Amino acid sequence: MVGDHCTIAGDSSSLHSQRTSKSGLSCKMVLQAVGKVLRKSKTKPNGKKPPTEEKKQYLEAECTKVRVVDFDLKELVVLPREIDLNEWLASNTTTFFNLINLQYSTISEFCTGDTCQAMTACNTVYYWYDEKGKKTKCTAPQYVDFVMSLVQKLVTDEDIFPTKYGKEFPTAFEALQRKICRYLFHVLGHIYWAHYRETVAMDLHGHLNTLYTHFIVFIREFNLVDPKETSIMDDLSEVLCTPLPPTENHVTER
Ligand SMILES: [Zn+2]
Repeated sequence: MVGDHCTIAGDSSSLHSQRTSKSGLSCKMVLQAVGKVLRKSKTKPNGKKPPTEEKKQYLEAECTKVRVVDFDLKELVVLPREIDLNEWLASNTTTFFNLINLQYSTISEFCTGDTCQAMTACNTVYYWYDEKGKKTKCTAPQYVDFVMSLVQKLVTDEDIFPTKYGKEFPTAFEALQRKICRYLFHVLGHIYWAHYRETVAMDLHGHLNTLYTHFIVFIREFNLVDPKETSIMDDLSEVLCTPLPPTENHVTER
């Protein structure tokens, strides 16, 4: 941290370092706001974490109704006529990678080896498997860094995500695409599970809800992630994927 301004911890993903405090909030302001939220929370004085169900602040109606778009996101993910399926999947996945990377960068300074000693989402712990298939326990920021570095490498590899006319997608494309989406889901799950309070304090939960909903309807449309994998967040997915009645639409203008 330099002076009173937010800095994002450097890592191998270029987008992390490009991120600046878009909202213009200083770290001090964010920390003060987080402090207020934490004081209001049901955390017991002995420091023990509250029971699981109490922690799901993101399921509260006040939170789930905050979005940044007011149309049905399902319309956005359907394969347009005359567009190649793989092209569509590749372009959407690259966009989701950039947006999820950006959303994570807004809370990355709160996601440290101390605060997040394991990569968790809804009581699930994710382990990283290295290139040789060896299971490794790592902290959440390490895990996210592994994910973002791997995905960055894949989406910029011309042999896997070809951008030049006439170049074919490889046979491994589908499997890699599914792998990327699975990892990106883990990152979104971790933001909701471990960094929702900070996201609310920065008033970025509308963005998070919209991004999450768009991502879920996309992976469902093309069956990209095993429903068993995403079932840990089904409670949220069901609420968010149901369009709001017109009177409850609290889209804010920015
Ligand atoms: Zn974290």
